[in-house]
Amino acid sequence: MLERDLVDRLFPDDLPEPSHWEQRYPPRQLPESAQVTRFAPSPTGFVHIGGGYTAMIAKDVARHSGGVYFVRIEDTDQSREVAGVADQFERAFRYLGVASDEDTVNGPYGPYLQSARERIYLSYVRELMRKSQAYPCFCTREELAEITRRQQATKLPTGYYGSWARWRDADPGEVVAKLSAGEPYVVRFRSPGTEGRVSFVDAIRGRLEHEANRNDVVILKTSQSNPRLPTYHFAHAVDEHLMRVNLVVRGEEWISSVPLHLQLFAALGFQPPTYAHIAPLMKTDAGSRRKLSKRKDDEASVDYYLDAGYPAPAVMYYLRGLANGRLAELPLEQALDEPIRLAECGVAGPLVDMVKLVDICGDYIATLAGPTVLDEVREWARERDPELVSVINGNRELAERAIDVERVGVANPRKDLVRWSDFRAIYGFFFAELFTLVTNPADERLGGLDGTLVRALAADFADHYTWADDQPTWFAQIRELAARHGFAPNAKTYKGNPDAYPGMLADAANVLRVAITGSRRSPDLHAVCAALGSGEVVRRVLALAGPAQPGSVRSITCGPPAQ
Ligand code: GLU
Repeated sequence: MLERDLVDRLFPDDLPEPSHWEQRYPPRQLPESAQVTRFAPSPTGFVHIGGGYTAMIAKDVARHSGGVYFVRIEDTDQSREVAGVADQFERAFRYLGVASDEDTVNGPYGPYLQSARERIYLSYVRELMRKSQAYPCFCTREELAEITRRQQATKLPTGYYGSWARWRDADPGEVVAKLSAGEPYVVRFRSPGTEGRVSFVDAIRGRLEHEANRNDVVILKTSQSNPRLPTYHFAHAVDEHLMRVNLVVRGEEWISSVPLHLQLFAALGFQPPTYAHIAPLMKTDAGSRRKLSKRKDDEASVDYYLDAGYPAPAVMYYLRGLANGRLAELPLEQALDEPIRLAECGVAGPLVDMVKLVDICGDYIATLAGPTVLDEVREWARERDPELVSVINGNRELAERAIDVERVGVANPRKDLVRWSDFRAIYGFFFAELFTLVTNPADERLGGLDGTLVRALAADFADHYTWADDQPTWFAQIRELAARHGFAPNAKTYKGNPDAYPGMLADAANVLRVAITGSRRSPDLHAVCAALGSGEVVRRVLALAGPAQPGSVRSITCGPPAQ
């Protein structure tokens, strides 16, 4: 055993005693049933949707119990840190509604950045070392690899334990010599090494049993690093205690660490939290289920949803339904408000079905008022598509008329807008700035009609175009136009004698549709023309008509400004 003052000399002189931290971070004044939870991401430059899902459950449980939820950034692995991560976190947390309840800078239990908590951890490492519950280990990487190799060769469990733990009960003289020589070391936890199994109750899975931890795990990383940071396991025990967390909601990959964590809590004299281990989000891939993978799946990243502009409430609604099936049965507003219950979270990972999510998004956007949709699109586009923002801003009324097409006053509002990034493709044609005039009569979208006929049809339409609120009256002019240019009035007549006609009414109408919308498929053309206004309709069709022929009239009968 190392003398106390020898241990103390390994730490800064002014390092506070644990009692200082106990007073600095007193138990929270909350009702007994209040749950204090946290989300503890590592700054790897990637916010996994599964992390967001876990955070959402943690925050919801805290909120409904009258407790607190906060975010703690676990940056003890400084080699993995990625610049700009704070902004990325901020964006992702806001999007999924999982921002911290406690201010990251001034919150009462901060700092919430582990790298800024070095002195706190050191106080507790020193304490364990003083009690000989932790000790320095000077093994090199090569020595550790050799231990593993020998264990594998004899089919023993790998790890640093029992007689393999070279420095666990080393001669104090040898330790002192190493320390005086300034040799690098880590600090390891002296595991009580209880044989057999430990059992604990998980708030989702019920009673679980696991093999006890026998390893003397590293709790403080190498003495050569600055700051001297702890490992995840040690920081976990210290932080949950001092931040007064009583419910740890985290991914199921940590279940196997619980035996170690319980040993650490006991050694430190802390009350362990309750654990709730969340099953991972899954996807089907080539017929089988696997975890959503950071490396393989774009949709594993929260940024994917943000960049595509999936509406946040729809994504949250979908995730809540994955956590508790009961919530998927409720209308969105209600499901966002009802509590998530841990006991109802499954132990098998739920399947992320992007088709289902797209449906939910379409349904959700269909319920929004036009101006709200436009605001959301502008917000999404602010940094991603500035041109779109200025086009919408410069054509606000047109934009509002456009967004109402087939959404207002119809029995089944359209649901084709599912992501804000789709707006340009679906609604862009309404705006002159984003629309490319169709000028080539041989354009393949026009269906292979004779170029001269296309031009004549377009010129004739433009010359006589008249707005009418009544759709049949309005359409009659297209019917008459088609007849004037020899098109068959319907498919039946056309098919009866195809050589007698250049095409049928639908083909003539398609020429106008393509000229006006740029596409063979568009929302109801009457409604589109209402939104565009006659001046713009005629301008577009004239572009296809080409230069005016001598003697043509080209008078435009415009409707009211909106038409
Ligand atoms: N920093 C850990 C991770 O990124 C957090 C695990 C936990 O929630 O305790 O997975």
